[in-house]
Amino acid sequence: MLRLVHKRIFWGLFILIGLLAVLILRLAWVQLLLKDRPVPGAAYSLAKMAEIQSERETVLDSGRGRLLDRSGKPLAGETVWTAAFFPQEEQPVSAAGRTDGEQPLRRLATVLGATYEEMRDKLQTMKEPFLWPDPAGGGKVPLALTEQQAEEVGRLGIDGVSVLPYNRRYDGTASGSQWLGYLSEAGPKEAKRSPSGLRVPLSGTDGLEKTLEPLLQGVGHTEAFAQVDARGNRLPGSGIQVRAPGNPYYPLSVYMTVDMKLQEDIERLAVDSGMQEGAVVVLDAENGDIEAMVSLPLYNPLKIDPAGGQWNNRALQGVIPGSIFKVVTAAAALEAGVTSPDEPFFCSGEYGKYGLSCANGKGHGALTMAEGFAVSCNTVFATLAERLSGPQLQRAALALGLGRQVGWQAERTLGLPLLRPLAGEQPGVIFAAGEQPGADGGARVQTAIGQRDVRVTPLQAANLVVTLLHGGEVRAPRILQRVAFANGQTLSELPGHLAPAADEISPQTSRLLLSMMRRVVTDGTGRKLQQARWPLAGKSGTAETLVRGKARNNQWFIGYGPVDHPKYAVAVAVENAAPGGPHLATRLFGQVFDQLAGSSGV
Ligand SMILES: [Zn+2]
Repeated sequence: MLRLVHKRIFWGLFILIGLLAVLILRLAWVQLLLKDRPVPGAAYSLAKMAEIQSERETVLDSGRGRLLDRSGKPLAGETVWTAAFFPQEEQPVSAAGRTDGEQPLRRLATVLGATYEEMRDKLQTMKEPFLWPDPAGGGKVPLALTEQQAEEVGRLGIDGVSVLPYNRRYDGTASGSQWLGYLSEAGPKEAKRSPSGLRVPLSGTDGLEKTLEPLLQGVGHTEAFAQVDARGNRLPGSGIQVRAPGNPYYPLSVYMTVDMKLQEDIERLAVDSGMQEGAVVVLDAENGDIEAMVSLPLYNPLKIDPAGGQWNNRALQGVIPGSIFKVVTAAAALEAGVTSPDEPFFCSGEYGKYGLSCANGKGHGALTMAEGFAVSCNTVFATLAERLSGPQLQRAALALGLGRQVGWQAERTLGLPLLRPLAGEQPGVIFAAGEQPGADGGARVQTAIGQRDVRVTPLQAANLVVTLLHGGEVRAPRILQRVAFANGQTLSELPGHLAPAADEISPQTSRLLLSMMRRVVTDGTGRKLQQARWPLAGKSGTAETLVRGKARNNQWFIGYGPVDHPKYAVAVAVENAAPGGPHLATRLFGQVFDQLAGSSGV
């Protein structure tokens, strides 16, 4: 039995050794004799094949999810034509000595807006394939070709030069769309590993890029590649090929409520107005959707300066509201039944307490509560504040969506425990934390006119107007509306919802406040808005603030229009303006509404 097993092992080994010997001989024969003969069915010899070191590739699409505006216009992740440069099949002696000759290269340089010398230098120093860079984008983004340019580059038929679609995240221009956010820069270590800089994974660092990061992460990138030999030359006959993940569902497309055309128009108006810092928010009066949200100074997602605050979205940051807060005080007083629009008051210009005076040095004289609202009389509102308790004022503010985050959010949606698209949205302040709300009369009076600790975000201010237009029902302003798979199929609709507080302002009080806001334009501080294309209504505000020890003003105007069929609620906040200048906020508010009226074709 044992002998039999030994015998079998012997013969098994003998056969194995025989086979190995045959293989070794065969290999030697192949190496020695067939070395330079072409392999049947292959374009190059075995020797050449052995030289294949690697592929050279360039990323055309990171695979990151797309962000699109309400009508499907790409905000981040737009596909454009680019010129891709790959190694040539033969090693050129110089660029001028390329197999295609000088003339096509000269033409190519012209089409790409470069000089022939620039092109030659770039080709001579090429170690990795690259996409021709856009000088305007600081070399970080490829140049986007027009269809005509793309056609011409293709027609030139230069070896190693292809026209390929590229998915660019940003176009490199500065904008007021801070809500979009930006992607973090690669660390020096990652960048070193990637000569092209394009293969470094980037992740969202602010705005929607950050809050939607789990949805935007893709399933791999799309790249163009070519096979090269040890010397970096492209293998003869190996063309430039494209490799994509081929998943029909990814990347996802995320649709915003923002109208990008409107966003850009308002951005331009805000810059031209002379506003240096501040925000403009346009909400759909019907559902509270964010149609535009502009923040100044502008930011460039490709050039984030950590020291500068340009990337801060001022629409979501609380600032001193000044007299727009009188809407809250009026709401609290009307709800408490301690006044009526017709109640008579007298303003001498000095309140006589807390060092408070009225903005109008001479005093407004005899006036009603509604007139006091229209001309923003501090005397009237200080008097009302003293009839109210701190908690009453606080409850009215909360009921109008102030002092808390109102932005749309959802729990357990799209596989996320909490989806909160508006990164960095501040809750604002009514009374400073740890204080008995407004126990001190002076604190209550200062709060009632929107000074002291009160902070309101421009988003909250615009939403407060939407709340009044809905009889006191607070809506959660929405910026996302739908998430779709790559094949267009809807993954999730993200419907709007309410953001109620414990208390609500009654429909009757809401109506009174809306009509008082109309009087601001017909008889009060907003009279200049009578020239606007639509009949408008609103409330102005000028708050005193200090910036590095210097007196500055926050100018506000919030309101709605057209008065009879409100379509939009708008908040304009001009921050840290020099005191004594014109009221930029009121003027800009009118211009924004004229723009809205123009685009509505009314
Ligand atoms: Zn007054």
